[in-house]
Amino acid sequence: MSGKAYLIGAGPGRADLITVRGLNLLRQADVVLYDWLVAPQLLEQAAPSAERIFVGKAHDKHTLEQDAITDLIVAHVRAGRQVARLKGGDPSVFGHAGEEALALAEAGLPFEIVPGVSSALAAPIYAGIPLTYRGVSTAFAVVTGHEAPGKNHSGTDWAALARIPTLVVLMGLHRINAVCAALLAAGRLPETPAAIISRATTSDQRVLRATLATMPEALRHANLPTPAVLVIGEVVALSEQLDWFAPAMVEVGFLPFDTLAGRRWDDS
Ligand code: SAH
Repeated sequence: MSGKAYLIGAGPGRADLITVRGLNLLRQADVVLYDWLVAPQLLEQAAPSAERIFVGKAHDKHTLEQDAITDLIVAHVRAGRQVARLKGGDPSVFGHAGEEALALAEAGLPFEIVPGVSSALAAPIYAGIPLTYRGVSTAFAVVTGHEAPGKNHSGTDWAALARIPTLVVLMGLHRINAVCAALLAAGRLPETPAAIISRATTSDQRVLRATLATMPEALRHANLPTPAVLVIGEVVALSEQLDWFAPAMVEVGFLPFDTLAGRRWDDS
């Protein structure tokens, strides 16, 4: 059989937030390459015979550099395997799906990209924060905190971002001081509500609420584990009434693997 790569969004944390298509393709893969944000229960959904390869990249601790991961995907597809590349959240949101797909395209190999529920969308709403709200927020932006000001080559226009009603900052905990300072310097009000959602959608989810001005100090005391998302904007105040999620309610009920064994879901 000829090989193909599937770049699959695994969803933001709890295993059953993967899409139905993503799960079906995962179940028929010969090789699964996954990173550290992927729920362990999802790996159990791959066929017992599937080869599982951890290629995770934790902060400052790159298990395999991106080029090596890309080479690995290309090599397995060339060898005729169905490769599931499972990525946390959505594969194209700070997930290197673009680089991996480009390498496959240049090698003339077939691939499919399966969107996923990004933590940028899921973390806020699991904390009761709607990203848009009539009369309060008509736009939101998702930005990486890595490119916070102070870095020599920040490619991020923080002054422009300060004017967007709702901001979602990924990978921002390490640079929280610089991020909040830049938004304040650009004129965002100090009392703007802010929240950090740690390990969103899982049984470990924790939410820290503060303001743009007080968040860096609040975080120092709270000592929240990563991964975490920072949300800034008036919509954060709605979470006082909309905080619906009880982490203890996370449980995962998947169909047993053999209910799908032998079926082909790759209809393309
Ligand atoms: N492709 C992923 C993002 C990868 S960048 C997605 O769409 O979600 C990694 C960053 O995502 C982390 O630094 C953190 O900011 C965020 N993140 C991922 N999973 C998270 C979770 N369960 N809770 C909070 N933040 C999360």
